[in-house]
Amino acid sequence: MHEIYSSLDSTEVHMRRALLEGDGIATFVRNDNLSQLTNVLIGAFQSALCVMNDEDVDRARELLRSFKGVSTEVSDWICSQCKECVPGSFDTCWNCQSFKPEAQP
Ligand SMILES: [Zn+2]
Repeated sequence: MHEIYSSLDSTEVHMRRALLEGDGIATFVRNDNLSQLTNVLIGAFQSALCVMNDEDVDRARELLRSFKGVSTEVSDWICSQCKECVPGSFDTCWNCQSFKPEAQP
């Protein structure tokens, strides 16, 4: 059994567990039922997501990496005025200061 992720926020652990289980990887959450109570009693107590089978560990790590990527990365956009490629974190074009176009519905 391999621990591959841990967090004080058990919601974070369970979101990742659902992702791995959805891909057919058997997982186990340690400290799950304890965490609510012990958080009150002693402060920090982490829930840990564990993979049951060693052969699934690499695939599980890969899935968690892509999971993070989805939530934090914003895709680049093309300026409608000057056609420059602008990083997704910019709200205006770095070249001509045009505003980022709204996403099409
Ligand atoms: Zn521009």
